[in-house]
Amino acid sequence: MDINLKTKIQSKIWLSSPHMGEMEQSFVKEAFDTNWIAPLGPNVSGFESDLEDYLDEGVHVAALSSGTAAIHLGLKLLGVGRGDEVLCQSFTFSASANPITYLGALPVFVDSEKETWNMSPDLLEAAIIDRASKGKTPKAIVVVHLYGMPYKVDEIHAISKKYNIPILEDSAEALGSTYEGRKCGTFGDIAVLSFNGNKIITTSGGGALVSPNKFHKENAIFLATQARDDAPHYQHSKIGHNYRMSNVLAGIGRGQMKVLDKRVDARRRNYDYYQQQLHELQNITFLLEPKEMVSNRWLSCILFESYELREKVRIALLEENIESRPLWKPMHLQPIFENELSFTDGTSEDLFQRGLCLPSGSNLSLNDLERVIHIIKFTLE
Ligand SMILES: *Cc1c(COP(=O)(O)O)cnc(C)c1O
Repeated sequence: MDINLKTKIQSKIWLSSPHMGEMEQSFVKEAFDTNWIAPLGPNVSGFESDLEDYLDEGVHVAALSSGTAAIHLGLKLLGVGRGDEVLCQSFTFSASANPITYLGALPVFVDSEKETWNMSPDLLEAAIIDRASKGKTPKAIVVVHLYGMPYKVDEIHAISKKYNIPILEDSAEALGSTYEGRKCGTFGDIAVLSFNGNKIITTSGGGALVSPNKFHKENAIFLATQARDDAPHYQHSKIGHNYRMSNVLAGIGRGQMKVLDKRVDARRRNYDYYQQQLHELQNITFLLEPKEMVSNRWLSCILFESYELREKVRIALLEENIESRPLWKPMHLQPIFENELSFTDGTSEDLFQRGLCLPSGSNLSLNDLERVIHIIKFTLE
């Protein structure tokens, strides 16, 4: 009887789980063999130069303990401090916005446009004009390539230039995506990557700060290693952090860099397959790529006709041991941020109501995808 029960429970399909290649363990072993277990060493600098080569454009990379840490240091390096206002995409994960508050600054949320689901250039400009008219010109703009889809780089950066407000480009979900052929993570005054367990590649936990300005890299490393002055004893004239990436974890990162292109291909294949199999259903739509953009399709997302249909499918998947997730709940609706200023037009609220992220890992089998597709078709037809 036990055996019968067991065969009925299908194996779990995760939303986005870690996917190791063949080289990770040998880089980690090398760290052990050479006793480079500290948060510095050859894997850290090797991982940084791998990322610099991959991103190109002459950028400089500092490997850190998380994407959140990179956003915190990035905002600090852009001069954000107590009482400052920082414009931030509302439709994102909370880690884009939380570091604004670590610095005693105030987030001002900006809604998305429908074409990429990222920051609306019109609302961004309206927000800047409004805040400047009250003598509160924002100190920085945090803009996100959500789910791997690039934001409208030309439009957003033209506004940043026009009003002379620097950009922190949150590319945590977009390593491997491109805009007009150029890699995401190379557009901002400072950009941020994440290597958390569910991202396109992972170091278990980790992140990076990227900048065309090498002083930002040097200062990020200085602040990330407790801001020690140049002296034989421990002396500090600035408040520091403990945010450097460990040499053991950077070994995983070096191995993952060898398979990054494959991981992007696999995620894009997932999306293509879902689209090919489901596009004929009347009550769902996909987020298409504008012609100047390539998304890494970190997560494959679909929009349903209504909240009720979305929930029906999400629960049907759950009952079959398949993890899916509503799109990010906008920051301006979050209890922690509900008293902050926001410039919205209902776009992200609607996406949150009707959207669902489907299982998207680069390690999904065709059989896994078929199981997901079957449930969606069966529930909607
Ligand atoms: C994952 C993520 C972060 C934070 O990265 P961690 O490495 O998890 O700290 C920031 N922004 C976005 C959009 C993310 O998805």
